[in-house]
Amino acid sequence: MIQQLLFVLTLLVFGYFLRRRILQIRNTIRLGRQVPVTGPVAQRLRNMLLVAFGQKKMFARFIPAFLHLLIYIGFIVINLEVLEFVIDGLAGTHRIFAPFLGSLYSVLMNVFEFLAVGVLVACAVFLVRRNVLRLPRFWSAEMTSWPRLDANIILITEMVLMLAILKMNAADQILQQRDAHYTPTGKLFFSSLFIPLLEDYSTPFLIFVERFAWWFHITGILGFAIYITYSKHLHIFMAFPNTYYARLEPAGYISNMPVVTREVKTMLGLQAEGTPAEDVPAHFGAKDINDLPRTSLMAAYACTECGRCTSECPANLTGKKLSPRKIMMDVRDRLEEAGRNLRAGTKGLDDGKTLLDHYITREEINACTTCNACAEACPVLINPMEIIIELRRYVAMEESGAPPAWNAMFQNLETNFAPWKFPAADRFNWAKEN
Ligand code: SF4
Ligand code: SF4
Repeated sequence: MIQQLLFVLTLLVFGYFLRRRILQIRNTIRLGRQVPVTGPVAQRLRNMLLVAFGQKKMFARFIPAFLHLLIYIGFIVINLEVLEFVIDGLAGTHRIFAPFLGSLYSVLMNVFEFLAVGVLVACAVFLVRRNVLRLPRFWSAEMTSWPRLDANIILITEMVLMLAILKMNAADQILQQRDAHYTPTGKLFFSSLFIPLLEDYSTPFLIFVERFAWWFHITGILGFAIYITYSKHLHIFMAFPNTYYARLEPAGYISNMPVVTREVKTMLGLQAEGTPAEDVPAHFGAKDINDLPRTSLMAAYACTECGRCTSECPANLTGKKLSPRKIMMDVRDRLEEAGRNLRAGTKGLDDGKTLLDHYITREEINACTTCNACAEACPVLINPMEIIIELRRYVAMEESGAPPAWNAMFQNLETNFAPWKFPAADRFNWAKEN
């Protein structure tokens, strides 16, 4: 009875902190601009199923994709076992499903253990890649001590949780032989490898090991659920809404501003839609997170910090000070800062800081070639280029602060309808015979 009460109390405490954090994230995303979600729902659901659930884009690099899939399937399937943990904890039972499922229970437990070992191997390989082989994309400038530590904490925690399951099952199997009260599970292949390490210990000690591993696993999972909301690992949940709300336009498409499109059409003598007043924004582009669409803010929480975007970015590869991964990390950091300000009852976004300049520099945004390679590479359909374009729009249209070389091009576009410095009437001179 005491254990049941303790378990209910544990669930309530963890549930309270998890709910509070989810609301905090929701409120910070709501700081952004609301944009209409258009396009067929079926296509959006398809994207979510293929990219978030099916991990389709991960398979551009097979080996890490396979290892990631092992962790992902392990995470989903092993958590089915947590259902039994929760029911046992609430009802004060032990392995409540075993009598109902009979020999199927043993099969399921062996599958869980196989996946647990798969997760252990995959996490070990990822730790080696990050810390021993030191893959450059995990050690670039924006991967400061916290993002690197965060990734290691996640991998090590997953390994420890898997080991706790195997240890618990090993102690349980010995107890089944010594005490008829323990529900038989049949032979569990991987955890039985630990039996020689435990079988010489007394029954009370094994009961302690089994109970300790049980509590460690369930509180570990609950604690992990809260931790990931502060970590890049939040992508395991945010990838789903992010892929659903990801834009459906063709790759490389840059959204125009209707008010500017109308002005250009009028200038070219073409028929313009809409009336001048109806779509004029308060200001052009984005200076801070509240100017960005909510979908871009949500994307910042969905970013896995994998660096695939940066490793494909031509500006980054040619030594420019631009990393699309850093753009997403900066948006998230600014969101978290604004959220903390609001919760503390201080000025919120009016804290004298802005995303542009205090997090992302003009040198970074000007280095973007708008090639779309970052969006193409992203395994969860994030488009850092959209944010860069919004920041550049602000600089160019609100501050007239574009680099001088660009201003000459803008001037040519306005007067010659082309980026070059000769009149439109001369455009076909090259085809004339001398
Ligand atoms: S669109 Fe910009 S940020 Fe993205 S890969 Fe190309 S240059 Fe880099
Ligand atoms: S934006 Fe996408 S590709 Fe880039 S680091 Fe984040 S998840 Fe990886």
